[in-house]
Amino acid sequence: MKPESWLKVTSRGLYCEPGDFYIDPHRPVGRAVVTHGHGDHARPGNRAVLATPATLAIMRKRFGNDAGSALDELPYGETRSIGGVGVTFRPAGHVLGSAQAVLEWQGCRIVVSGDYKRRPDPTCAPFEVVPCDVFITEATFGLPVFRHPPDSEEIAKLLTAQAQFPERAVLVGAYALGKAQRVIALLRQAGYERPIWIHGALQGLCDLYRDFGVELGELRPATGAAKKDLAGEIVLAPPGSLTDRWSRRLPDPITAMASGWMRVRARARQRGAELPLIISDHADWDELTMTIREVAAPEVWVTHGNEEALVHYARTIGLRGRALALIGRGEDEQEAPGGEETQEAEA
Ligand SMILES: [Zn+2]
Ligand SMILES: [Zn+2]
Repeated sequence: MKPESWLKVTSRGLYCEPGDFYIDPHRPVGRAVVTHGHGDHARPGNRAVLATPATLAIMRKRFGNDAGSALDELPYGETRSIGGVGVTFRPAGHVLGSAQAVLEWQGCRIVVSGDYKRRPDPTCAPFEVVPCDVFITEATFGLPVFRHPPDSEEIAKLLTAQAQFPERAVLVGAYALGKAQRVIALLRQAGYERPIWIHGALQGLCDLYRDFGVELGELRPATGAAKKDLAGEIVLAPPGSLTDRWSRRLPDPITAMASGWMRVRARARQRGAELPLIISDHADWDELTMTIREVAAPEVWVTHGNEEALVHYARTIGLRGRALALIGRGEDEQEAPGGEETQEAEA
């Protein structure tokens, strides 16, 4: 049976017909399988939700009672049968709790990878390669020009700025789910032991990461701190706070921004980032193409980003490539309203 006859693209998102569930639906449905907690994948208002324990905790924190009326936890590696379709989560290496949804029906295996990356991240389980018949991949950075540098180089730039300007604060814009905790954990890995100051909007998810065993070291609330106490310190805040009133409490801040889009100079300028840090939670071109080769599925479906280039790549190595026109993706965080900015969210 052809895979597209049981996993279909609909106006609400990917729909598995024999299991009667949607994956990361962008409008409320009766039964949703959710790959991870970012706003373009996890939305409020579904009735039944199947997700990893961490993803459900994130959804509860963000949506309260609207997270869903029947929340069903499925840890990595366990299988749940829904209408005869086997659903198993495998780590996607994107953010805490992020999963690839492995769907099996009548001898056919489809992997819906959600968002993913391949490089090590101290805040989440690493991506697992799952051989399959159809691999569904994102393509946020699906162009050969996108090659992310090593994280350690970017963190070194941040530490250099902090050491060079003891009278100024270094303000780092980072999305609240995933990027903020990863920047903190990478700083700790690099040996930075001072307290890290955070905007109030980051507190809840940092606490949640700690509850799931991720070490972040000493964090202090930046709101309410005396200006002089923030001199020479690293402060993290959501990207929207870089240029707003909030940042005026900091002593002459050097503004940095951690995002895969910082590769693009115009985006860095638009963000007001003097210090662009190319730190991405999405696979770059090399990671995308390596993953397609390793998974070795004869068929690759590409969901969001630069679909055409990756579909073309799949065809050049003899695979069936197909661009899926899924709507509502690529806006992982919704704190940047409107325009260009939403497209770079959480990259
Ligand atoms: Zn995401
Ligand atoms: Zn996404």
